[in-house]
Amino acid sequence: DTEKLTFDELITHWAQEKPHQTALEQDGEAISFADLEERSRRIVAMLRARGVEKGDRIAWLGKNARHYFELFYSGARLGAVMVPIGWRLAAPEVAYILADTGAKLLFIDEGFDDLAARACAEMEASPTILDTPTAKAEIDGAPAAQFDPAGADDAVLQLYTSGTTGNPKGAVLTNANLFSLRLPAEAAAQPWSSWDEDEAILICMPCAHIGGTGLGIMAIAAGIRAIVQAEFTPDGVLDAFEQGITRLFIVPAALQMVVQHPRAKDTDMSAVKYVMYGAAPIPLDLLREAVQTIPGAGFLQCYGMTETTGTIAMLPPEDHALDGNQRMRSAGKAVPGAELKVVGEDGTELPRGEVGELVCKSPSNMQGYWNLPDATKGALKDGWMHTGDAAYMDEDGYVYIQDRIKDMIISGGENVYPAQVESAIYGHPAVGEVAVIGVPDDTWGEAVKACVVAKPGSEVDAEDIISFTRERLAGFKVPKTVDVIPEMPRNASGKILRRELRAPYWEGRDRQVN
Ligand code: ATP
Ligand code: MG
Repeated sequence: DTEKLTFDELITHWAQEKPHQTALEQDGEAISFADLEERSRRIVAMLRARGVEKGDRIAWLGKNARHYFELFYSGARLGAVMVPIGWRLAAPEVAYILADTGAKLLFIDEGFDDLAARACAEMEASPTILDTPTAKAEIDGAPAAQFDPAGADDAVLQLYTSGTTGNPKGAVLTNANLFSLRLPAEAAAQPWSSWDEDEAILICMPCAHIGGTGLGIMAIAAGIRAIVQAEFTPDGVLDAFEQGITRLFIVPAALQMVVQHPRAKDTDMSAVKYVMYGAAPIPLDLLREAVQTIPGAGFLQCYGMTETTGTIAMLPPEDHALDGNQRMRSAGKAVPGAELKVVGEDGTELPRGEVGELVCKSPSNMQGYWNLPDATKGALKDGWMHTGDAAYMDEDGYVYIQDRIKDMIISGGENVYPAQVESAIYGHPAVGEVAVIGVPDDTWGEAVKACVVAKPGSEVDAEDIISFTRERLAGFKVPKTVDVIPEMPRNASGKILRRELRAPYWEGRDRQVN
């Protein structure tokens, strides 16, 4: 099928078209497309010598590294399925993923011996562990393999969901899933899908998530340079701006650290063409601040999930005008090639403006969850991925994410979406971070509670937050109580773990979710 691309085709293609172009770069060390083509054949030989065949899982435990991307791309040419594991996870969580995948090899980055050993100690059958120097020596000594490449519908990546609402689930993704929304026809439909030769994309979000690994996929599809940073730091991003990166993807919590960094106002950001942000709701005030701080860039909100190989809706730059337009609250509209609709509980499409569950039909939808047939059936119905997000769509197809259905608070029969309340409270000058949860209430079923972290140097007064919110939102959305907490519980994707904040209040009770 010529309408589907694979890693093997793309790497071969760029090695011929632009052999000297840098493919991957980290800390000033780079590999060209020609060298990547050759090196990946040796990696294939090394994998095979280690007993890895098409369909086998290989795992990576470490920070972002050029070496990781080389292993992923090369395994993908062969059809070995890469499983990047979040390096912030605890040993039992690492063990859970390793056991779930049955990975044959576990590649570990420098500094992860101990975590890997502790994880493997908990497993019945643990994978062979290969540290980076050992793997590199084996790759350097291997011949360039001739092999039968994986096809478009072969799995190449198994990404675990962020585990925001429960245990992470392994989304199995094929070559076609990865590249289907990046075909030339789809790409030509939007100005930001075409790339100049000298562009560079920054990979600063963790590779265990689509916001990290997905940027490597984007770079391979476009044949451009990817700059890898081991982990996110606001300084690292500001440095990368000064060094001329043209695009990046960043989650709202990280974007906040960048734009509010004391260095930000003295940083030359003129090279930045597009700032892609998403993965969690963004407070409007933060978005406005970011647009003002990086004025030359086009902002693109990305909405998507691991199960859809990332972005399925985008809010284009023109909808980021600072003139009070309401569109800025939207997560955007379906990207070319993907279809979105909002459905009711019975699965029928709802009229525009009504809140229901957002569902997506896209060639980027995963094959299914690994080892979870029931969860797969519940999530993928007739090819429609059920996002678990409550949303409405306007007449022009713009989607407005309300929140996760599981996090919706039902108070006195009224639906309250935490994200909206958080967005209002965030406008209070003393508030650094805020999460809104439902706690049990004998009268109302659930009551709205805000958990607030004060801005450094500020103090938060509960009554003040409540009256501030009352001026901005309907009465039933106003928090009944406010907890001031020292730190916000977040996962490695920067997402607030509302379930952890809720847990102490719901101990011994069942929280009804729709
Ligand atoms: P789990 O599925 O394990 O609970 P998760 O849903 O956080 O974790 P991801 O696949 O990383 O795992 O995240 C997808 C979710 O992130 C979406 O379903 C949505 O709730 C949220 N999300 C993504 N992009 C946006 C966005 N632009 N605005 C608001 N929410 C977003
Ligand atoms: Mg999810």
